[in-house]
Amino acid sequence: MKTVEEFRTSRPKEWDALMQELESLGGAAFYLKDLVKNHDGVVWFHPFFPSMKQSDIHEINRVEIEGRKKMLLSYEFYRDRVPGFENSYIALSSPQLGTQGGQRVVGEYVCTTKDMISDEVFEDTIAIFPDNDNEEISAKHPNVCIPYRALVPRKVDGLLVACRAFSSEFQFNEYFNLIPHCIAFGQAAGTAAAMAAQSGIRPRDVNYAALQKNLIRQGVKLPVP
Ligand SMILES: Cc1cc2nc3c(=O)[nH]c(=O)nc-3n(C[C@H](O)[C@H](O)[C@H](O)COP(=O)(O)OP(=O)(O)OC[C@H]3O[C@@H](n4cnc5c(N)ncnc54)[C@H](O)[C@@H]3O)c2cc1C
Repeated sequence: MKTVEEFRTSRPKEWDALMQELESLGGAAFYLKDLVKNHDGVVWFHPFFPSMKQSDIHEINRVEIEGRKKMLLSYEFYRDRVPGFENSYIALSSPQLGTQGGQRVVGEYVCTTKDMISDEVFEDTIAIFPDNDNEEISAKHPNVCIPYRALVPRKVDGLLVACRAFSSEFQFNEYFNLIPHCIAFGQAAGTAAAMAAQSGIRPRDVNYAALQKNLIRQGVKLPVP
């Protein structure tokens, strides 16, 4: 990595030209380093590939194959052209393609961009998110509330959404589909499912106040008594 850094800082124009060439070939130029202790000399590539059909298995296979071809292309380019990578090798590739975003359920409530800045506390709030993927909005509106109805499909009974497929417009989903958000959806959906099963009722008929009480008992922070 010392050789790489020396090359990058002492010959920035050459570095930029190489990276542009790699990108024009369809490769991944950007990498992260120092992510894990004692992994000096390990770099991580996290490339993104556009796709609009995240639930179509043929499309997923196409992207998977494209990703692996581009991984080899990028690796060979770095190894053959970038000083410092001469003796590099691929230590690990992801076992499975990851997707960001995707299809979403249309629920009894659809979270919209308006909800990101309204500071509204819903009567069925099941999660409050002080942080999202947009720093500017987070700073001004650190208490975005999610209603239980966003987990309840409008047309299907006996089903709750415990993940990033919660009922939301694209932009809202983009900012609130990260791991901590999904943990909160999962906790609320699991608790509501247990309550519905115990009482023999449909998930959509779960009493909001009782659900909130249960969540608060579990340590969930909610803006309700
Ligand atoms: C490359 C990448 C990097 C990311 N980095 C971060 C990050 O640093 N921090 C962060 O907070 N978030 C990050 N995210 C976002 C976050 O990981 C996801 O939004 C989140 O994991 C979504 O959770 P989920 O439960 O909705 O879906 P997933 O975690 O995708 O879970 C869905 C599960 O369902 C399984 N499944 C699918 N179909 C079936 C089926 N028919 N039967 C049974 N099981 C099935 C899948 O195998 C999978 O295990 C990243 C996402 C990607 C793609």
